[in-house]
Amino acid sequence: MTTPELSKTNGSTGTTGAPVPVTVARGDGIGPEIMDATLRVLTAAGARLAVEEIQIGEAVYARGHSAGIEPGAWESLRRTRVFLKAPITTPQGGGFKSLNVTIRKSLGLFANVRPCVAYPPFVPTRHPKMDVVIVRENEEDLYAGIEHRQTDEVTQCLKLISRPGCERIARYAFEYARRHGRSKVTCMTKDNIMKLTDGLFHRVFDEVAADYPDLVAEHWIVDIGTAKLADTPEAFDVIVTPNLYGDVLSDVAAQIAGSVGLAGSANVGEHAAMFEAIHGSAPTLAGQDAANPSGLLLAAVMMLVHIGQPEVAERVHNAWLATLEAGVATADVTGPGVGPVGTRAFADAVIDRLGQQPTTLPAVTYPAGQPQLAVPTATARPAPAKTMDGVDVFLHHDDRDPDALAALLREAGDGVGLDLTMITNRGVKVWPDGLPETFCTDHWRARFQSSRPGAASRAEVVDLLRRLDRAGLDFVKTEGLYRFDGEPGYSLGQGQ
Ligand code: NAD
Repeated sequence: MTTPELSKTNGSTGTTGAPVPVTVARGDGIGPEIMDATLRVLTAAGARLAVEEIQIGEAVYARGHSAGIEPGAWESLRRTRVFLKAPITTPQGGGFKSLNVTIRKSLGLFANVRPCVAYPPFVPTRHPKMDVVIVRENEEDLYAGIEHRQTDEVTQCLKLISRPGCERIARYAFEYARRHGRSKVTCMTKDNIMKLTDGLFHRVFDEVAADYPDLVAEHWIVDIGTAKLADTPEAFDVIVTPNLYGDVLSDVAAQIAGSVGLAGSANVGEHAAMFEAIHGSAPTLAGQDAANPSGLLLAAVMMLVHIGQPEVAERVHNAWLATLEAGVATADVTGPGVGPVGTRAFADAVIDRLGQQPTTLPAVTYPAGQPQLAVPTATARPAPAKTMDGVDVFLHHDDRDPDALAALLREAGDGVGLDLTMITNRGVKVWPDGLPETFCTDHWRARFQSSRPGAASRAEVVDLLRRLDRAGLDFVKTEGLYRFDGEPGYSLGQGQ
């Protein structure tokens, strides 16, 4: 695979010394307190920011905006293209959309980068050598939000994985590893079960890895990989993974490094970037001056690097490390015998140490003059030849006798040119030769295939559906059985 063109994330002007426009939201719960602490530290450190505030979260949901953000706020986000965001409280119940998912997808923030680092002995952890960065795909997978109830008993969520999506996130992970002097990129998927979707992610990872021979590339099945991460995180360096696994893995990683209150994240796309703590709005801590501002502060450090102010990022990060070393900590991370300080006092302690370096923990350096980490675009590929073998018809059918259903389907579909070859229930083959022990729901899949591979037509599918309808069979969806350059693009579907 050849390295495709790399595009610039945004047009930041940080190196010129002029203030960089940045959109800021104070959020809900502990959000306003930790944002106030963070902005005070940034200002004291000499960050050149032109802050534009927008309101998001509870109050905006309450005004009837289903995603917790007002139309006018998008104008600021699209102009500044840099968003420092405090956590919000997501309202419970139907009718509300996740603000985070909406922002990530609307602005195309495809990469979620979460460094999870241990700070022994200042933050208690069982994994003192841990230093892992999770690069999570941010737009696809089960988070596409395409869900349907199809029958009385069965609901469905679509898992969408695209080749360009896989290529961009894999390439971003390798570019990130190179830029940050890391040596290994680990891909985690469940491709032993999801051979097409996770299989694509793994395959594209392997293809991209070939362009980075200086870096070790490996793959773990995500279940044992997560167990290994929880037990021996020092075995990992950079981890790249689809959206859902990344969501779980990054919280596990942050927690075992010390505290979810310590980790920041960057959501990066071609046109914009959003920086936030990984934790939520912790409503029970709100208004008590007790929350740890570190996650948002470290997210702001990533933002400073992104907008071309690495020298300020370095001052803030090292002052923060020196503060930890001085035993100053909020209640979520204090070790035995260390009295906690409040949010404001913690920020003051960081401000007092601006210009200092840590002495035990390794100091960080953010080299000046580096261009922004480029955002990869996907390689253009010729379209494969697409043919159709047949169709899977999903049915809502209350009677639980597979043989009786097969008889109905064969009678209804007789003469169409597509033969009934299989019936499954929740992916398990129940006809022909099913087992009476198999538990069946009211949701069936009937596979109809042409006798010759690639010879089925859409007209035959429409004809089949018309006949099933006439026979009173309630089809709830169809999936075409396609071949791409002769390769089947569908699973055997026998619960393998
Ligand atoms: P949470 O992260 O808010 O809290 C989990 C636990 O961690 C709580 O015990 C909390 O007190 C503690 N905690 C979190 N941040 C802390 C900090 N900075 N300092 C000290 N302790 C901290 O998760 P939750 O309770 O599941 O969610 C609360 C709300 O936040 C929900 O409405 C949820 O939807 C929302 N949420 C928002 C975001 C976001 O805006 N990015 C992310 C996650 C959750």
